[in-house]
Amino acid sequence: MLTVETARTWLSLFIEKLEKNENYLNSLDESIGDGDHGANMLRGANELKVNLTGESSVLLPDLFKLAGMSFIQKTGGAAGLLYGQAFLQMAQSLQEGNDLLDILTSGLEGIQKVGQTELGDKTLVDVWVPVMEDIRNNRLTLDRINEHVISTKDFQAKKGRAAYVSEQLNGHIDPGAASCGYFFEAMLEAGVYDE
Ligand code: ADP
Ligand code: MG
Repeated sequence: MLTVETARTWLSLFIEKLEKNENYLNSLDESIGDGDHGANMLRGANELKVNLTGESSVLLPDLFKLAGMSFIQKTGGAAGLLYGQAFLQMAQSLQEGNDLLDILTSGLEGIQKVGQTELGDKTLVDVWVPVMEDIRNNRLTLDRINEHVISTKDFQAKKGRAAYVSEQLNGHIDPGAASCGYFFEAMLEAGVYDE
C-alpha cells in the first residue's frame, strides 16, 4: 500500500539504485546518446536525498512534489523534465487518493505531455506502460520489470538524442528505460504494490 512510509522507502531505494548504477546508466547512454544519463539522474537523486532528510513530516503529495522539483532543478536534460513532470502529476493525483494505478496513470500523462512519446519509441514509456499492465493483471515481479527494460533493445528510437542515430541502436537498452526499471524495482521492494 502507498503510505508516507512506503513512499519514502520507494524514493530512498530509487536514490540508492541510481547511486549504485550511475556508471552503468552512463554507459547505456554512451551507446545511444551523450553518455550522461547516470550522472543526470544522480544529481536529481542527491538533491532529493537532501530534501527528504530536511523534511521529516510531509504528506504524500508533498513527498512527490519534492521529488518532482528535485529532478526538474538538478537533473536537467530530457530526463529531468520527464521524471520531474511525472512526479509532479503523481503528486497532484495524490491529492485525490492513493490508488497506485491512478497515480501511475497521472505520472505517465506527465511524461507524455513533456515527451510527446508513444509506446515503442524506445523511452521510459516502454517500461512504464507494461508495468501498469502487469499491476492491472496482478503479475508484476522483478523479473518482469527486467524483461520490459531489456525489450527496449529491439525498439527503434523515435524521441530524444537517440532518434538521430536510430539505425545503429538495435541491441542497445534505452538508458531512460533502465532508470525507470530501477524506479519500479524500488516500488516493489518498498512494499507499495505488495500489500
Ligand atoms: P539527454 O537526452 O538530454 O542527454 P538523458 O540522457 O538524461 O537526457 O535521458 C535520456 C533518456 O530520456 C532516454 O533514454 C529516453 O528514455 C528519455 N527520453 C528522451 N526524450 C524523450 C521523450 N521525448 N519522451 C520520453 N522519453 C524521452
Ligand atoms: Mg543523455
